[in-house]
Amino acid sequence: MCPGGFIVPAMTDGTQSVVNGMSPSGRNSAFANSGLVTEVRLEDFAHLREEWGELAGLRYQQLFEELARQHSGDKQVAPAQRVSDFVYGRESRTLPRTSYIPGITPSRLDRWMPEEIGARLRSGIATFGKKMKGFVADEAIVVGVESRTSTPVRIPRDPDTLMHTQVEGLFPAGEGAGYAGGIVSAALDGERIAEAVARYCKAHNF
Ligand SMILES: Cc1cc2nc3c(=O)[nH]c(=O)nc-3n(C[C@H](O)[C@H](O)[C@H](O)COP(=O)(O)OP(=O)(O)OC[C@H]3O[C@@H](n4cnc5c(N)ncnc54)[C@H](O)[C@@H]3O)c2cc1C
Repeated sequence: MCPGGFIVPAMTDGTQSVVNGMSPSGRNSAFANSGLVTEVRLEDFAHLREEWGELAGLRYQQLFEELARQHSGDKQVAPAQRVSDFVYGRESRTLPRTSYIPGITPSRLDRWMPEEIGARLRSGIATFGKKMKGFVADEAIVVGVESRTSTPVRIPRDPDTLMHTQVEGLFPAGEGAGYAGGIVSAALDGERIAEAVARYCKAHNF
């Protein structure tokens, strides 16, 4: 949750719609945003294994981002739906104001998201709604898609030395290498790796 923050574009090329959330230190914008994470299971992208092998998860993510782009407007405009409409399967004819500067366009996210992701999100939001009054609201919107919470590939490393299993002296670390999924886990992994590198240097008299 980013209170007093913004939704920002996070795509890396023009074929995708990807968003993320942040708040400046003042946390004083009129908006709050929060990434809603759902699990993706191996069977969800089993159909891509034959063609994409180990990169099937990456391809699944790419297809999801491209799908979001196909359902959005021009340039960096993002597809969006009122939370209540997303949960109850209704069209949002209008949308409330948003912090996302490139703009949003009404879209049936409940229809075009892969069923396994959409169903899990709808059920999760409905459960939040039972626990927190007002969570499933007309004023709140779902903006698509925050698809880069954690990397779908992992560079292998030895569990003891934390060094790459085949490349001497290479220490895969942090989010890009597949060992973190956020600020704190990346920082802690970085610290572990720094200690492992120091041990390695000491052992080799570097
Ligand atoms: C908009 C946004 C909002 C976020 N909000 C949150 C949040 O609220 N909470 C949370 O927990 N996480 C959040 N995250 C995720 C979090 O920022 C990342 O998980 C974390 O920064 C990953 O840290 P890292 O050190 O593994 O990688 P990075 O922070 O990406 O660091 C990698 C570094 O490597 C450098 N680099 C890349 N290639 C090379 C090269 N060839 N040579 C030299 N240097 C190179 C890059 O310039 C970069 O500085 C957010 C991310 C974004 C984009």
